[in-house]
Amino acid sequence: MARHKIGIVGIGKISQDQHIPVIRKNRAFDLVAVASTRGLTVEGVPHAFRNQTEMLEGVPDIDAIAICTPPQVRHAIAREILAAGKHVLLEKPPAATLSELTDLADYARERGLVLFTTWHSQYNEGVEKAREYLAPRTVTSLDIQWKEDVRKWHPGQEWIWDAGSFGVFDPGINGLSVATRIMPSPLFITKAELFFPENRDAPIAANLDFRIGDVTTNCRAEFDWRETGDEKWEMTVGTSDGSILKLTRGGRMLTIDGEVVVDGASEEYEGIYERFDELLNRREAHVDEQPFRLVADAFMSGRRITVEPFTE
Ligand code: NAP
Repeated sequence: MARHKIGIVGIGKISQDQHIPVIRKNRAFDLVAVASTRGLTVEGVPHAFRNQTEMLEGVPDIDAIAICTPPQVRHAIAREILAAGKHVLLEKPPAATLSELTDLADYARERGLVLFTTWHSQYNEGVEKAREYLAPRTVTSLDIQWKEDVRKWHPGQEWIWDAGSFGVFDPGINGLSVATRIMPSPLFITKAELFFPENRDAPIAANLDFRIGDVTTNCRAEFDWRETGDEKWEMTVGTSDGSILKLTRGGRMLTIDGEVVVDGASEEYEGIYERFDELLNRREAHVDEQPFRLVADAFMSGRRITVEPFTE
């Protein structure tokens, strides 16, 4: 099968850390173009543009484009790419609002194009094994702890504090994407507290309570960007048959009742591009809005609490 000609829009941290090296390793793809508002070029990539408009004009036979910008600008960029008849991969979170995401999904479907919402944490072996283990069981408790140092993980990223950037939900949504993937019943937010620094428009921390099926107690998440030292990306799930499942290191490690079931390397983006290849070959969309919907629910139902100012 011919290789998919792919481009990337937005050459920031995640493009440089993951998308570029991972696409290069995958023989199903040819990285033919990048678009950077700062005018960055990437060695070995034949075409470099300022934006998707120039990319679509300059490489008319491109098959697909990965959008790795901040979420606020994704909808317009994705619409333009879909209008040109090209497939789209969206970094997480997929858009600025649920309405934007629904519009993109509908538009891609009407045009017979692939739209792929990626949630990188879901592409860990531990997550898949956890999903299989929990599928026939009843969950009785959930404790998600997603805590990291914002200065370490988002250095100089001012956009992340803008309204509509989701603040601490930018990493927290990874925990939610794992939870929605592995839970055998839907998750509902029953209470949310959002902690906003007094000088910022996005929360630095959040506490959520959930209902899972009929279970209304002991189901919670804590997200915090004020963690110093090692990050904590983990969740613990209890089941009615008394077992305790623990996913740590963002889903890379799974233990069940203290026994290590998976202790894998991080190959999240390798998994994303293997999946994208499958979707492109089948011309099939993959739109998972559940983690995003929970974030919207948290903002809709959340109580705002003002905390001390944040300076980088
Ligand atoms: P980043 O370093 O700020 O990179 C985003 C890039 O998008 C910028 O460097 C810029 O690249 C481009 N951009 C910025 N504003 C733009 C605009 N208004 N219009 C068009 N392009 C614009 O951020 P990032 O960490 O890579 O995050 C990008 C997305 O990836 C976020 O949604 C984030 O949640 C997700 N993500 C990040 C990580 C991580 O570890 N950082 C991990 C997984 C997922 P150019 O100057 O080249 O145009």
